[in-house]
Amino acid sequence: MSFITDRERIDEALELLWVINEDNHHEMDYFRINSDDADINALVDTLLHEGLASISGSEIRLSEKGLKSARGLVRRQRLAERLFTDVFEMPDDAVLSDACKMEHILSEELTESVCTFLGHPPTCPHGKPIPRGECCKKFKIEVTPLVMRLSELAVGAQGRITFIVASDPSRINKLNSLGIAAGSIVRLVQKTPSFVLSVDETTVAIDPEIAREIYVRKTAP
Ligand SMILES: [Zn+2]
Ligand SMILES: [Zn+2]
Repeated sequence: MSFITDRERIDEALELLWVINEDNHHEMDYFRINSDDADINALVDTLLHEGLASISGSEIRLSEKGLKSARGLVRRQRLAERLFTDVFEMPDDAVLSDACKMEHILSEELTESVCTFLGHPPTCPHGKPIPRGECCKKFKIEVTPLVMRLSELAVGAQGRITFIVASDPSRINKLNSLGIAAGSIVRLVQKTPSFVLSVDETTVAIDPEIAREIYVRKTAP
């Protein structure tokens, strides 16, 4: 039996298991097909040996320990993706490979700062959920987040929409048809009794719960 000592390869395997589990796949075959590791047998042996995963029948599942590590890795990777797209405004396809390296670099503390700075985003740019961290539960915002909910923007302030997390996906099209889409610049005209925005010379009223689902990056007026 041979084991792997390269942490990055083990981390990649943990992440892959997390990602396929999100799609409800636990089959060993599925894991093998989707892994690009050079020595999948040694990799699996290592996961079992380190107590990161277990096998039952034809399925492989993360153990509690494996889940904890994978959760942290996926969280860091998806936050890094957000950082690259929202802050550095890098194109989507360039983002993934760099984000893949970041999750091995970001410390726990730095991760919380990045998460806070980005306004505790619920999803990555690909729409996958970002596992929540301790920082996301805290009520108080110590750092002014770069990206915030539209509902938190001050009246008169202007922002560029970075992403929309619609609880009802059919809303996205409706919003898009009003010019409310990622990349659009919006100005908050009023908050009560309803939210009124101006987008491209047009004034649009939206429900407060929708304003909470739109994330903006504040821009100078
Ligand atoms: Zn992603
Ligand atoms: Zn957070």
